[in-house]
Amino acid sequence: MDCLFCKIINGDIPATIVYEDDLVIAFDDITPRAPIHKLIIPKEHIATLNDIAPEDQELVGHMLYVAKQIAAECDIADAGYRTVFNCNADAGQDVFHIHLHLLGGRKMKWPPG
Ligand code: 5GP
Ligand code: ZN
Repeated sequence: MDCLFCKIINGDIPATIVYEDDLVIAFDDITPRAPIHKLIIPKEHIATLNDIAPEDQELVGHMLYVAKQIAAECDIADAGYRTVFNCNADAGQDVFHIHLHLLGGRKMKWPPG
Protein backbone atom coordinates (compact mmCIF):
# COMPACT_ATOMS: atom_id res chain seq x y z
CA MET A 1 0.00 0.00 0.00
CA ASP A 2 1.30 3.43 -0.91
CA CYS A 3 1.06 5.01 2.53
CA LEU A 4 3.76 7.29 3.89
CA PHE A 5 3.21 6.30 7.51
CA CYS A 6 3.13 2.54 6.71
CA LYS A 7 6.53 3.14 5.08
CA ILE A 8 7.81 4.76 8.29
CA ILE A 9 6.50 1.73 10.25
CA ASN A 10 8.26 -0.64 7.83
CA GLY A 11 11.48 1.36 8.01
CA ASP A 12 11.37 2.25 4.30
CA ILE A 13 11.31 5.96 5.20
CA PRO A 14 13.44 7.15 8.11
CA ALA A 15 11.97 8.96 11.10
CA THR A 16 13.15 9.88 14.56
CA ILE A 17 11.22 7.28 16.53
CA VAL A 18 10.69 8.22 20.17
CA TYR A 19 8.44 5.33 21.25
CA GLU A 20 7.42 1.92 19.94
CA ASP A 21 5.39 -1.02 21.20
CA ASP A 22 3.29 -3.79 19.62
CA LEU A 23 0.47 -1.44 18.70
CA VAL A 24 1.90 2.01 17.95
CA ILE A 25 4.97 4.03 17.11
CA ALA A 26 5.66 7.70 17.82
CA PHE A 27 8.11 9.95 16.01
CA ASP A 28 9.05 13.59 15.48
CA ASP A 29 6.94 15.49 12.98
CA ILE A 30 9.11 16.50 10.01
CA THR A 31 7.63 20.05 10.03
CA PRO A 32 7.21 20.82 13.72
CA ARG A 33 4.50 23.39 14.51
CA ALA A 34 5.70 23.72 18.11
CA PRO A 35 8.97 23.07 20.00
CA ILE A 36 7.60 19.58 20.77
CA HIS A 37 5.63 18.01 17.91
CA LYS A 38 5.30 14.21 17.90
CA LEU A 39 2.99 11.97 15.92
CA ILE A 40 1.57 8.81 17.49
CA ILE A 41 0.32 6.31 14.91
CA PRO A 42 -1.09 2.77 15.02
CA LYS A 43 0.91 0.04 13.29
CA GLU A 44 -2.39 -1.04 11.71
CA HIS A 45 -3.34 1.06 8.68
CA ILE A 46 -6.54 3.00 9.40
CA ALA A 47 -7.14 5.85 6.95
CA THR A 48 -9.21 8.31 8.98
CA LEU A 49 -11.03 8.56 12.28
CA ASN A 50 -14.18 7.78 10.29
CA ASP A 51 -12.74 4.32 9.67
CA ILE A 52 -12.16 3.27 13.26
CA ALA A 53 -14.14 0.15 14.13
CA PRO A 54 -15.63 -0.81 17.51
CA GLU A 55 -12.65 -3.10 18.13
CA ASP A 56 -10.24 -0.19 17.59
CA GLN A 57 -11.49 1.71 20.64
CA GLU A 58 -8.78 0.35 22.92
CA LEU A 59 -6.11 1.12 20.31
CA VAL A 60 -7.22 4.75 20.03
CA GLY A 61 -7.27 5.07 23.81
CA HIS A 62 -3.78 3.59 23.89
CA MET A 63 -2.60 6.28 21.46
CA LEU A 64 -3.74 8.92 23.95
CA TYR A 65 -2.09 7.06 26.82
CA VAL A 66 1.20 6.99 24.89
CA ALA A 67 0.82 10.72 24.16
CA LYS A 68 0.57 11.55 27.86
CA GLN A 69 3.61 9.42 28.63
CA ILE A 70 5.65 11.19 25.94
CA ALA A 71 4.43 14.55 27.23
CA ALA A 72 5.79 13.65 30.67
CA GLU A 73 9.10 12.49 29.18
CA CYS A 74 9.38 15.74 27.20
CA ASP A 75 8.68 17.72 30.39
CA ILE A 76 5.61 19.50 29.02
CA ALA A 77 2.99 17.67 31.07
CA ASP A 78 2.63 20.32 33.79
CA ALA A 79 2.85 23.35 31.50
CA GLY A 80 0.35 21.76 29.11
CA TYR A 81 0.12 20.42 25.61
CA ARG A 82 -2.38 19.74 22.85
CA THR A 83 -3.44 16.46 21.23
CA VAL A 84 -5.16 16.59 17.83
CA PHE A 85 -6.62 14.17 15.31
CA ASN A 86 -7.36 15.86 11.99
CA CYS A 87 -10.08 14.10 9.98
CA ASN A 88 -10.53 14.71 6.26
CA ALA A 89 -10.40 17.87 4.19
CA ASP A 90 -12.00 20.50 6.43
CA ALA A 91 -9.54 19.64 9.22
CA GLY A 92 -6.58 19.63 6.83
CA GLN A 93 -5.73 15.94 7.05
CA ASP A 94 -2.82 15.36 4.64
CA VAL A 95 -1.71 11.83 5.51
CA PHE A 96 -4.44 9.21 5.37
CA HIS A 97 -3.19 6.93 8.14
CA ILE A 98 -4.58 8.11 11.45
CA HIS A 99 -2.13 9.98 13.64
CA LEU A 100 -2.39 11.79 16.94
CA HIS A 101 -0.48 15.07 17.02
CA LEU A 102 1.18 15.90 20.35
CA LEU A 103 2.12 19.58 20.43
CA GLY A 104 3.74 21.49 23.26
CA GLY A 105 6.54 23.68 24.47
CA ARG A 106 4.71 26.91 23.73
CA LYS A 107 1.37 28.52 24.56
CA MET A 108 -1.36 27.30 22.21
CA LYS A 109 -4.09 29.47 20.76
CA TRP A 110 -7.75 28.64 21.11
CA PRO A 111 -9.78 28.07 19.02
CA PRO A 112 -7.43 26.49 16.49
CA GLY A 113 -7.48 28.07 13.04
P1 5GP B 1 -2.13 15.99 9.04
O1 5GP B 1 -2.10 17.31 8.33
O2 5GP B 1 -2.46 14.84 8.10
O3 5GP B 1 -2.95 15.97 10.30
O4 5GP B 1 -0.65 15.77 9.57
C1 5GP B 1 0.35 15.13 8.84
C2 5GP B 1 1.63 15.45 9.52
O5 5GP B 1 2.63 14.59 9.00
C3 5GP B 1 2.11 16.88 9.26
O6 5GP B 1 2.27 17.56 10.51
C4 5GP B 1 3.43 16.70 8.53
O7 5GP B 1 4.40 17.65 8.88
C5 5GP B 1 3.84 15.29 8.92
N1 5GP B 1 4.64 14.62 7.91
C6 5GP B 1 4.40 14.58 6.57
N2 5GP B 1 5.33 13.85 5.95
C7 5GP B 1 6.18 13.41 6.91
C8 5GP B 1 7.37 12.59 6.88
O8 5GP B 1 7.82 12.12 5.84
N3 5GP B 1 7.98 12.35 8.07
C9 5GP B 1 7.50 12.84 9.25
N4 5GP B 1 8.18 12.55 10.35
N5 5GP B 1 6.38 13.60 9.32
C10 5GP B 1 5.73 13.88 8.17
ZN1 ZN C 1 -0.71 3.41 6.43
